[in-house]
Amino acid sequence: MSVFKRRAAQDDRPTAGHVLPAGPAAHGNEVVLELQDLVMHFGAVRAVDGVSLQIRRGKVTALVGESGSGKSTVGRCIVRLVEPTGGQVLLNGADVTHLSRAQMREHRRDVSIVFQDPAGSLDPRMLVGDVVAEPLQLQGGRRSRKERSERVAEGLQRVGLRPEVARRYPHELSGGQRQRVSIARALMSEPKILIADEPTSALDVSVQASVLNLLADLQRDIGFACLFITHDLSAVEYLADDIAVMYLGQLVEQGTREEIFARPRHPYTQALLAAAPVADPARQRERRPVLLGDDLPSAMDPPSGCRFHTRCPLAVAQCVEEVPALRKSGGAVAACHFVHEDGSAPDIRAGHATSAVTPAATTGSPA
Ligand code: SF4
Repeated sequence: MSVFKRRAAQDDRPTAGHVLPAGPAAHGNEVVLELQDLVMHFGAVRAVDGVSLQIRRGKVTALVGESGSGKSTVGRCIVRLVEPTGGQVLLNGADVTHLSRAQMREHRRDVSIVFQDPAGSLDPRMLVGDVVAEPLQLQGGRRSRKERSERVAEGLQRVGLRPEVARRYPHELSGGQRQRVSIARALMSEPKILIADEPTSALDVSVQASVLNLLADLQRDIGFACLFITHDLSAVEYLADDIAVMYLGQLVEQGTREEIFARPRHPYTQALLAAAPVADPARQRERRPVLLGDDLPSAMDPPSGCRFHTRCPLAVAQCVEEVPALRKSGGAVAACHFVHEDGSAPDIRAGHATSAVTPAATTGSPA
């Protein structure tokens, strides 16, 4: 993780014992957004199939998974770019799953999104200043031209751009600058939650770290909650407080960043972490990636039982027949028949399903 500067505020991170989905939020762990059994089907495609998740105020929750896992669809359901097929989206406890036009306006102010591709998400015919100013209308009230310009200049400066950029068109900017404009725009309405959907994956590697650093600084300074949708585990390690892992439309593991990186319980999480590069060359040389084989199965006809069984090296007959429930295990929850409350969990690197994963065996690295 050498390319990312370290987050300054480390002392307010949750303890390893925090369990995300259980019980009412404790003081300091207030839930700002909650998904209850969220379902989003596009015809026969079961993109999201019963996702329950809590996002805490002022924290970054990373939603991780392969392309096609349904993670971006979760983000779009929260912003209400698509109408969920089932389940509930609660914002500060209020049900925002089905909204009138007037309520939608308020929702769009409270929940902003930054998309993967800034070139596609910014209107090329609009000046940057107008793009950034657009969300101000959601806040209501009349503003003079001068006030509006001042707010735009502040917004641009907040993301490291000069106020003069307001008079340019998006195509006159670099990819990194365009993504900064997207972020400035998303924060203009002072949202309660920001959805960042693969915000750096369309950018040159050389600017990815600076945009991620910017997001981290803004999140820390302003304190909005963030759902960070990504497949980049090094970015997750740097930015996230909590992690939720998705596979084929469902959550398979959730926990704090410390718990997931030190003790991944679910075989899929273990495989993802085993495939992620680490900064230390010596550790990188020692790593043995776990080959999952086969591509992600179709969301039109997901496998029976545990949806991961067609790729899991530890699958047994029970996995084909029975759906594993999300089960508490220490400071996390995971959906695998071989994860138990006493902390025992599968270990795909050892090649067997019932070994206890101890902190001593795994601390410090997603090997
Ligand atoms: Fe693998 Fe079975 Fe666990 Fe699913 S339930 S992750 S197939 S061991």
